[in-house]
Amino acid sequence: MKMTRRTVMSGAIALAGSVVLPGMSWANATLTVGTGTLDTLSDGHLVLPRSFVLADTVAADADVVLEPFGLADADTFMPDCNLTLWRNGDRVVLFDAGSGPDFMPTAGHLMAAMDALGLTPEDVTDVVFTHGHPDHLWGVLDDFDEPLFANAQHHMGQIEYNYWTDPGLPDTILPERLTFAVGAARRLEVLAETINLFADGAQIIPGVTARATFGHTPGHMSFEVAAGDEVIVVLGDCIANHHFAFARPEWPNGSDQDTTAGVATRTALLAQLADADTVFVGFHLPTPGIGRALRNGETFQYVAMT
Ligand SMILES: [Zn+2]
Repeated sequence: MKMTRRTVMSGAIALAGSVVLPGMSWANATLTVGTGTLDTLSDGHLVLPRSFVLADTVAADADVVLEPFGLADADTFMPDCNLTLWRNGDRVVLFDAGSGPDFMPTAGHLMAAMDALGLTPEDVTDVVFTHGHPDHLWGVLDDFDEPLFANAQHHMGQIEYNYWTDPGLPDTILPERLTFAVGAARRLEVLAETINLFADGAQIIPGVTARATFGHTPGHMSFEVAAGDEVIVVLGDCIANHHFAFARPEWPNGSDQDTTAGVATRTALLAQLADADTVFVGFHLPTPGIGRALRNGETFQYVAMT
């Protein structure tokens, strides 16, 4: 695998040195995998309260892990959002659709990133969802509530689709996530007639195989992307940051809807990825989000691919 990366300032003001006004640049990295090309495209970043990520973790314990990352005492986390674009043969596959304009002002920049690659939404042949959270799903419609990727086949795991389209969900989801439920249902209703629903282990596109990684959401899926002898894993959010998730994978992550299942998925998957030295893309790992896991006994370390 060979990686190149670049950062482009689009309408941004470059200040002295390399400082760029936040939210005004996008970046991408390109990885050659067998006969295919994998790009990660920045959709911007989120701004999350510390409590959303840390769950019940004791603050002092958390700060020990966060200190090497310069995040001890941070009130907010600002995880990057990296979409994966996979081009192989005649397929142009986008993993997740980004936030769109309605979630957070710091996210929803995907169109600028695609434009810089010379791509339009009409070029995308497949949109594959890891899960139904806003930063992954809400960018799927245009200003007229029509599918933005007008020529694409959309794909989502059956369990995930059933969860977000359950009419009873707004009554059972945590109140602070009610907008997640309403927003997902509205978008999936538009796609309902044509979306392809699949199960764990399905090869949904030649070389792209679904892998159940439940916990972050009830039907969260990751994907093995293979071309020739090479494989890369598109994680989505089952390993959702570069600090806790690796250094303390057994700690509950407050962003996981089922924290117990999230821990089980994360610990098992990290061991597999580290022991096989598999390259992966993490949606919320630092842009461009491509790297490996290094094992230190029962804990791990994220090693970015540069
Ligand atoms: Zn996410």
